Amino acid sequence: MRGKTVIVTGSTSGIGAALAGAFAGTGATVVLNGLGGAEEIEAARRTLAERHGVEVLYHGADMTRPEEISDLIASTERRFGAVDILVNNAGVQHTDRIEDFPPEKWDALIAINLTAVFHATAAALPLMKRKGWGRVINVASNHAFGGGVTKCAYVATKHAVLGLTKVTALETAGSGITCNAICPGWVKTPLVDAQIEARAARDGLDIEEATWRLLIEQQPSGRFTMFEQLGAAALFLASDAAANMTGSSITQDGGWTAL
Ligand code: NAD
Repeated sequence: MRGKTVIVTGSTSGIGAALAGAFAGTGATVVLNGLGGAEEIEAARRTLAERHGVEVLYHGADMTRPEEISDLIASTERRFGAVDILVNNAGVQHTDRIEDFPPEKWDALIAINLTAVFHATAAALPLMKRKGWGRVINVASNHAFGGGVTKCAYVATKHAVLGLTKVTALETAGSGITCNAICPGWVKTPLVDAQIEARAARDGLDIEEATWRLLIEQQPSGRFTMFEQLGAAALFLASDAAANMTGSSITQDGGWTAL
């Protein structure tokens, strides 16, 4: 991927950080984004750049703010001359039954998990079209295919991201641009740690037992999907091998959606 510029939204933690690392490992220029402390983010940025000998920049766009998303895309193009690969990964979770779900949480999940994908894609596509090449990779979820109790906003946004993936694919078909989704099941990140801790507290379990029950209820393999596996999927989608794959999705969920 040397010579290519990749933006990974929500890459200061979890899956996004792993995908940024995977692209940096192939020589790509990487733009990090996400929330966090300035010192931690700068340390992560420097480590990634030095480890792989690539340029790594951080842009602090808040994914709830359309004008900051536009600036993320525009300033990347100004600095590096292109946005070749856009990974829409930033995402948040909140769990509550519908009647108890705080409306402001609903709005936040819609904004970050879904509307940000629209704004970033809309800003990046003209740049990709000008070059006649581009990759949009949306990190959706197994929850793009089925429901989950207490996850109304998350499930709604992930189904919608898959729909947006298909429309992006259709509107760019034949242009050298593809758009696909990666749909992980459980991956051990802070987003899932919070759910494990909530389950442990609710059911009076230790963390190990709560982790196992969370996994085995829905992920038949009984194993977390690993960062390296997600990185390999993203690199495949960006590669020439996937040039005719668009509007599609890769599930990495240990059999969850086969149930
Ligand atoms: P995480 O909490 O580790 O990381 C989320 C990232 O999004 C962080 O970098 C955070 O700073 C960023 N972010 C949150 N709000 C933001 C905002 N307003 N502006 C900019 N950045 C913001 O979570 P994760 O598990 O790595 O999740 C990453 C993606 O993977 C999400 O879209 C999530 O829905 C999806 N996913 C996760 C799992 C899982 O099991 N962890 C499974 C399926 C899908």
